[in-house]
Amino acid sequence: MIKKISVIGAGRVGETTAQMLAIQKLASEIVLIDLDDQYAQGVALDIQQTSEVFKFDTVIKGSGDISAIKDSNIIIITAGLPRKPGMDRSDVLEANLKIIDGVMDGVIEHANDAFVIMVTNPVDALTYYACKKTNWDRSRIIGQAGVLDSLRMSSFIAMETGLSINDIKTLVLGGHGDTMVPLIRYTSIGGVPITQLLSKDVIEGIIQRTRDGGAEIINLKKNSSAYDAPAAAVTVMIESIVHNKKRLVPCISLLEGEYGQNGLAIGVPVVLGENGIERIIELEFNDEENALFSQSVSVTHDLALEVDKLISK
Ligand code: NAD
Repeated sequence: MIKKISVIGAGRVGETTAQMLAIQKLASEIVLIDLDDQYAQGVALDIQQTSEVFKFDTVIKGSGDISAIKDSNIIIITAGLPRKPGMDRSDVLEANLKIIDGVMDGVIEHANDAFVIMVTNPVDALTYYACKKTNWDRSRIIGQAGVLDSLRMSSFIAMETGLSINDIKTLVLGGHGDTMVPLIRYTSIGGVPITQLLSKDVIEGIIQRTRDGGAEIINLKKNSSAYDAPAAAVTVMIESIVHNKKRLVPCISLLEGEYGQNGLAIGVPVVLGENGIERIIELEFNDEENALFSQSVSVTHDLALEVDKLISK
């Protein structure tokens, strides 16, 4: 078990993630940081009081002081504004970049050896920024997008087919937004390609619903973006690191030549283990996949340029 995991941002995603990590017994200590010290303490206490039900001995602490993350093995960053109905993830870039800049100062000062899981949106751009600011080995800074997008796509396929979610495999790459790339060639149920089980039209519908997965939930909830499935996705990533499971999952990583990109952070298949991102898997795309991925690269690249512009202001 990893000793200490800190969650910076004790809002909806942060709180739910901490609860799931405790239930899965993935750390002996979990620290939640938020702007308001008492609020963070309240969230921690609330989760602590579920320990008897879920039989965990993890100590949960809350604080408004970022130095409480000291010596964390893993830092999860969920601090920042979520989008509202009608907003795109990039609409919160300027506000969240400022927040992440401050948060990363704290991470560098107090937990310079930790792994960082970036969740705050726009997550590709902020993962890029965290890599750039720290200059750490890229294996230690991992953005969450593809695990969630794949969970969503798998759920839609299970809902459509009535078949067990346990047999469904999906893979969604690219940026976490409208240009994400759900890969149909890598989608199967019990090893059977999805194209043999569902019509082209139904598959197109599932792809679109996956792309709109976050927006669909915001539009229904109105005053909150999604947080249960995002927290579950982060938990999948942490579990693979803590238990050295070496799961092959899509995550945002800084590319250093892979997929023809240098210095861009975007969703690609990676192997997650005790050393963070241990491998990046390069797929050979067909023409259609290549066009979709290139479009996603272009949008993600523009956001990274926007980050550079805002930071040099
Ligand atoms: P939320 O408003 O419920 O929580 C955000 C928390 O961050 C708030 O409690 C706020 O006080 C705190 N915060 C702000 N600045 C801080 C700072 N400097 N230090 C510490 N805490 C600070 O929002 P949420 O629904 O939990 O979403 C959080 C972020 O995660 C948003 O940017 C959202 O878009 C993003 N998100 C990403 C994914 C993904 O797949 N990557 C999925 C869901 C949400």
